[in-house]
Amino acid sequence: MSGTFVGMPAFPTAAKDALADETLRGNLRYATHTIRDKRAKAVAELDDWAELREAGKQIKDHTLRNLDRYLVQLEEAVTAAGGQVHWAADADEANRIVADLVKATGETDVVKVKSMATQEIGLNEALAAEGISAYETDLAELIVQLGHDRPSHILVPAIHRNRAEIREIFTSQMAKWGKPAPDDLSDAPADLAEAARLHLREKFLRAKVGISGANFMVAETGTLAVFESEGNGRMCLTLPETLISVVGIEKVVPTWRDLEVFLQTLPRSSTAERMNPYTTMWTGTTDGDGPETFHLVLLDNGRTDTLADEVGRQALRCIRCSACLNVCPVYERAGGHAYGSVYPGPIGAILSPQLRGTRSEIDASLPYASSLCGACYEVCPVAIDIPEVLVHLRDEIAHQGGRGHRLERTAIKAATWVFEHPGVLAAGERAASATRRLHPSRIPGAGAWTDTRDLPELPPESFRDWWRKNRTNGATRTGGRKDGGS
Ligand code: SF4
Repeated sequence: MSGTFVGMPAFPTAAKDALADETLRGNLRYATHTIRDKRAKAVAELDDWAELREAGKQIKDHTLRNLDRYLVQLEEAVTAAGGQVHWAADADEANRIVADLVKATGETDVVKVKSMATQEIGLNEALAAEGISAYETDLAELIVQLGHDRPSHILVPAIHRNRAEIREIFTSQMAKWGKPAPDDLSDAPADLAEAARLHLREKFLRAKVGISGANFMVAETGTLAVFESEGNGRMCLTLPETLISVVGIEKVVPTWRDLEVFLQTLPRSSTAERMNPYTTMWTGTTDGDGPETFHLVLLDNGRTDTLADEVGRQALRCIRCSACLNVCPVYERAGGHAYGSVYPGPIGAILSPQLRGTRSEIDASLPYASSLCGACYEVCPVAIDIPEVLVHLRDEIAHQGGRGHRLERTAIKAATWVFEHPGVLAAGERAASATRRLHPSRIPGAGAWTDTRDLPELPPESFRDWWRKNRTNGATRTGGRKDGGS
């Protein structure tokens, strides 16, 4: 997988920088709380949300267990409907296929629907190297592209920007890419949206090639589906003569019936809508209706390796709703850029290290970018147990070695020995309590954890001593406390 942001430090360093940016934290807090509250209301409207969640999980698990069969079925159906299927093992191969397909049309401009898969492989940059300009048409992606920025959220890539910043970007950058922003552009949402609409319309009407991803692919008919809110997707998917869709292999579902579940869970979980405003579905090509040529690039890029991991494979159930980002206390404070990947937040912390491997410093740091509070699991519409995968990946990384992990292993071995010898443990506890006034409040140099946290104060006596003094056979001697009272 490409997509590691070049030069990115490991998560703790990047997050520390982000934490110092008060505007960023304010923007993130406002946006994530607004979206999460709306989502909770939209989900609460459905009495059968738990059943839908379980159904989504089972459909995805069944498909992943039989992925080879469904992908072949999909390929046959797409081909029979007039499309052409290409298989890409990694980012380089996918980029090369797409660049060659665009060059074969003789065009040098393409319009794009927002797509995580194309961001993952760095498609825009690869096309630029071949002299092809890719124009993002989703409003937030447009803001990111015009601002020479990076996305920081799966669903709301410009979540870190406020209205004043967006106005500034439009005013200073739009003219360099096409139709300029109006001279008197204000930062009112309606004015900003109108400026984007006028800027993009020119691109839609000229484009001969469109590039998209897909939310789902239906194996039985070869149908692809894009769920979106702005209508830019509908324009990109229907106006150009050639459509190229780059889609991860895990996005296939067996039947149309399966879509019924995700048509309910994805909009409510992502944008808190009962139904997304635009659902575009297409099956191959149709004379006189939509693109004349359709190419589907099926992307592996680490997914087969992820599938081989019995615990980690559940990350491939993800339908990219971004609900886990909006409830994550770490994401809310650090923002998306700190994750150094197109997949930020809790899902990024388990998906990126699996797709890219855990050998780089940033990928090895991502599974630790969590408090393991479990809020991500609670909201996930396909019940991905993100904390379970985080712990699993931490275990894998710890076994890779490194100085820090060797020290940790030695400390844990010593602690294990002490816990296995109750007499030593009791003597140690008494000694620690007796000398507690002499203990420092920090351990300098013991790593990031103690650099920013005080050590807990030791009580005057250990719990075991307190228990021995105050309780006999379960009866309370002091009379001041009852079982389960604290
Ligand atoms: S992990 Fe679950 S909650 Fe997070 S983006 Fe994926 S589907 Fe949504």
